[in-house]
Amino acid sequence: MFVVMTVGASEAEVLGVKSQILAEGLTPFDHVGEERVVIAVVGEIGGRRPLLIERFTGLAGVERVTPISRPFKLTSREFRPEDTVIRVLDAVIGDGSLTMMAGPCSVEGRDMLFETADAVKAAGATVLRGGAFKPRTSPYAFQGLGVEGLRYLAEARERTGLPVITEVMEPSQVDIVAEYADILQIGTRNMQNYSLLREMGRVARPVMLKRGYGATVEEWLMAAEYIVSSGNPNVILCERGIRTFETYTRNTMDLAAVPLVHHLTHLPVIVDPSHATGKRWLVKPLALGGVAVGADGVMVEVHPTPDQALSDAEQQLTLDQFRDLMTDVVPIHAQVRGLRRDPVEAGAAAAGGALAADGLARH
Ligand code: PEP
Ligand code: MN
Repeated sequence: MFVVMTVGASEAEVLGVKSQILAEGLTPFDHVGEERVVIAVVGEIGGRRPLLIERFTGLAGVERVTPISRPFKLTSREFRPEDTVIRVLDAVIGDGSLTMMAGPCSVEGRDMLFETADAVKAAGATVLRGGAFKPRTSPYAFQGLGVEGLRYLAEARERTGLPVITEVMEPSQVDIVAEYADILQIGTRNMQNYSLLREMGRVARPVMLKRGYGATVEEWLMAAEYIVSSGNPNVILCERGIRTFETYTRNTMDLAAVPLVHHLTHLPVIVDPSHATGKRWLVKPLALGGVAVGADGVMVEVHPTPDQALSDAEQQLTLDQFRDLMTDVVPIHAQVRGLRRDPVEAGAAAAGGALAADGLARH
């Protein structure tokens, strides 16, 4: 439930509500909006709901208590109508600009990483990607360079100024990956690794959460809720394709998920057409499609000699193909930018309607 404070409620009143929530064994998270403070009450509420609503409604400075039917709270647009904007070095994600994350599937060595980093930076990439710890389907496949790969990524950041994103596969790797990387990636196979998600809550780095290949949108948002409720509000979602009965593509890219997730949450959404399609020649059309439906950015795999890549050889773009993608994606992004959200809804959110009961009904 959300406790909606009156316009002009004092700091002492907000504190009073928060301490009452804590006294009930629950956790308060406040959002200071333009007009008023809203406090989300999270924890096991169970059968106490009517009693708590009555209790909180009676506190000083409280306008109303809104029960919320959705299981995700802190990640919902009802709680926070404004988009979450994430800043990391010079990159800004979720502010309406186009985020382009590019780089090899795996960091295979210093030279190939630097060559790729220089080329993607020159072409307009805003974030450098590269896997150091690789989640491979086969235990006999290349598992990544580990810490050596992290060091090359940090050197590539020094060289290009681009923030780097790389995957963290288990809780024991979180500190070392956070030491070298600017954005931590949770891969599709780990979307419901709850101990890893909780660890993400305590790192001072943005986290990109890939959608589990068998996960519904709600399960994906609940995974994001784990991270945010553990203390890290800087979560980026990444649609990377889900498994369906189709076999021509590696996965099926769920384009509808992009506007849907923008509707349900305030978190930025990136599309990854490389893992979604598994085929080099399908990456560009799906990248353009993702941007056309309002994605905040694209993640693509790029390699100087994709055919010789140690992982995902079939889906990595050449440096030339990445330049070509950039040429076409930038004007498409510029065109759709003003259309990003339905104007009626955008107006309702701006008027604070997203928090009202009618805001819930709209979904
Ligand atoms: C990756 O981006 O390196 C990766 C392994 O992707 P996914 O988790 O989506 O398969
Ligand atoms: Mn890959």
